[in-house]
Amino acid sequence: MGRPFVNWSGSLSFTPAEHAEPADEHEVCALVRRARESGTKVRPVGSGHSSSPLVRTDGILVSLDRLAGVLSDDGRCATAWGGTRLRALGEGLYDAGLAMENLGDVDYQSIAGATATGTHGTGLGFGNLSTQLTGVRLVTGTGDVVDIAADRNPELLPAARLSLGALGVVTRVTLDVQPRYELHRRSWCAQLDWTLDHLAELQHTNRNMDFYWYPRSDQTQIRVMNRVDVPPDRRAWAKNRAPDAELRESQVGPTHRTIPRHRELRFEEIEYMLPSEAFPACFAEVRRRIRERHRRVAGWRVLVRTIAPDDIWLSNAYGRSTVTIACLQNTSLPYEEYFRDMEAVFRQYGGRPHWGKKHWLTARELRPLYPRWDDFQAARRRLDPDGVFLTPDLARLLEEW
Ligand SMILES: Cc1cc2nc3c(=O)[nH]c(=O)nc-3n(C[C@H](O)[C@H](O)[C@H](O)COP(=O)(O)OP(=O)(O)OC[C@H]3O[C@@H](n4cnc5c(N)ncnc54)[C@H](O)[C@@H]3O)c2cc1C
Repeated sequence: MGRPFVNWSGSLSFTPAEHAEPADEHEVCALVRRARESGTKVRPVGSGHSSSPLVRTDGILVSLDRLAGVLSDDGRCATAWGGTRLRALGEGLYDAGLAMENLGDVDYQSIAGATATGTHGTGLGFGNLSTQLTGVRLVTGTGDVVDIAADRNPELLPAARLSLGALGVVTRVTLDVQPRYELHRRSWCAQLDWTLDHLAELQHTNRNMDFYWYPRSDQTQIRVMNRVDVPPDRRAWAKNRAPDAELRESQVGPTHRTIPRHRELRFEEIEYMLPSEAFPACFAEVRRRIRERHRRVAGWRVLVRTIAPDDIWLSNAYGRSTVTIACLQNTSLPYEEYFRDMEAVFRQYGGRPHWGKKHWLTARELRPLYPRWDDFQAARRRLDPDGVFLTPDLARLLEEW
């Protein structure tokens, strides 16, 4: 019997039959072959930060914690083990004079786990982290190693860059990187109506911009980040600040130490990706419902970010400029009724759920949201013909019945 697994927020727990930590790629291959022969399911796990049941299994839970670190770089691309945590990846790249182009709110995740669900940061000009992948090496459901990049099996790349761990165990990734740079992070508070009135300008005049809305006070916390060597337009910056707003935060540092933050408080989260044109009406409805129906239970905040469109088959920013709305709830408070009601609103506006956060959609509802859905499923059947990675939770997500 493996040891019990509990995810970061505590809402997902199970005990796999076996917990494997292979020391090299050969061990990953041998493990998958053994599982295939015995009809055992395999789920790869990263840092366990997802709260949807993507990693739940009564079979083998395989962690690449021992396959971590940056392997090589040529100044424009870097290759790292799939188990490398984002913090370690940032430090490794920094030591080589390099940086990723964008990051999300925290850096505890593994690079394979973060990209498997389309983890994203904010900024009109930036896709999710999966868009930074130019190559993926994985151990497929037959126990074979396959390299996928522009010059090797390129037809599989739009599936492999965001795969929910359904195509195989990602042992290595190659990322687009750039010379390291410094960011200036600032934040301040404003009333929600002021923030919404100035939102387009704030998004367009800052490299990265997002805001938290606190429903109980109707205040927002606005965060912007800009490269130190490319400062924002000074006039726009002065105009963008609410009158009398005092900066709560002003920090300069390298990307990987400036964008992510440490999170003490544990929370549950639902996040949906919306076509950007649907945001104003969708957010107005979210605001109305939270204030009318959920004010007593909605204990915390709502986060609004942007993602650039991409062409990755299961990406929730596929083919559209995206605004995301995320509702966060302290783990000590009930979330399901609140989140389900928000999900109904998000769906009304064409939203696609974050794969790694709470949602209640199955393949039947997901398929119409993704134009290349069937292509992903064909790639999955090719790489995992016997469904070694297809647990009942994955089947609910990926196979209609
Ligand atoms: C505090 C917190 C902050 C967060 N901030 C953000 C944010 O800013 N932006 C955002 O978009 N999301 C955010 N998330 C969500 C989080 O980034 C995703 O859930 C992410 O997938 C978690 O990565 P992980 O390494 O923990 O992977 P896990 O949660 O362990 O696994 C996620 C998926 O990756 C697969 N996987 C893991 N390793 C491999 C591998 N080697 N090969 C193949 N598949 C693999 C798993 O099978 C699973 O399908 C946050 C979550 C938390 C708890």
